[in-house]
Amino acid sequence: MKILVSNDDGIHAHGLRCLSDALSEIGNVIIVAPDRNRSGASNSLTLDSPLRIDTLEEDKRYSVKGTPTDCVHFAVNQLLDPWPDIVVSGINHGANLGDDVIYSGTVAAATEGRHMGLPAVAMSLVGETHFASAAHYAKVIVQQLQHHPLPSDQILNVNVPDLPLDQIKGIKITRLGNRHRDEKMIAMLDPRGKPVYWVGPPGAKQDAGEGTDFHAIEQGFVSITPLHVDMTAYNSIAELINWVKEYQ
Ligand code: MN
Repeated sequence: MKILVSNDDGIHAHGLRCLSDALSEIGNVIIVAPDRNRSGASNSLTLDSPLRIDTLEEDKRYSVKGTPTDCVHFAVNQLLDPWPDIVVSGINHGANLGDDVIYSGTVAAATEGRHMGLPAVAMSLVGETHFASAAHYAKVIVQQLQHHPLPSDQILNVNVPDLPLDQIKGIKITRLGNRHRDEKMIAMLDPRGKPVYWVGPPGAKQDAGEGTDFHAIEQGFVSITPLHVDMTAYNSIAELINWVKEYQ
């Protein structure tokens, strides 16, 4: 099995190393990752400049001056022939729960794999300590996908509680919860006395009840949420058809 590994925390991130080491036990891993931390890059593609690639290890590790989506796009459309069998992204340093998936570069790297019809998994650790636990589950999930493929228009968003493996209670299949609106921005003055603003931390969890990804994590379970890219709100279509009738 040929496994393409990427992330959004950058080529030097500890989580990326843990993921690729674990997956090397079950397949042939090729790493294509951003040259620096691109967390929050979402699905952005670099269109205003060419992508520069550094080959760190031939056929094994490549660093891309670009976004997570650029990395997977380049790997699949240019670098790898034959294509990989699966794309795995992560292990992200921190949660990708609920609304986070909209902003996440970790999820975006997986999504780019899905656009190409490949099975894709986004792995995140809800913390920064027990990467070995997340690496273990990455291996389990990739093996499971190999034996029981899912529809190719879906990706798996996996969050692992930051606990030693023997304290994790198991796996729950979940839906996305959501967060309250973000905190206010953090305002400061730059050294020249001009105001600058930092994006603040994400909002507190709001819809975090039973069945959500937030809930599973809080209870000490690994959360797997199947995602698809079709964001259509189907239950509003009928009402909107009525809504525009008078204008037609
Ligand atoms: Mn990240």
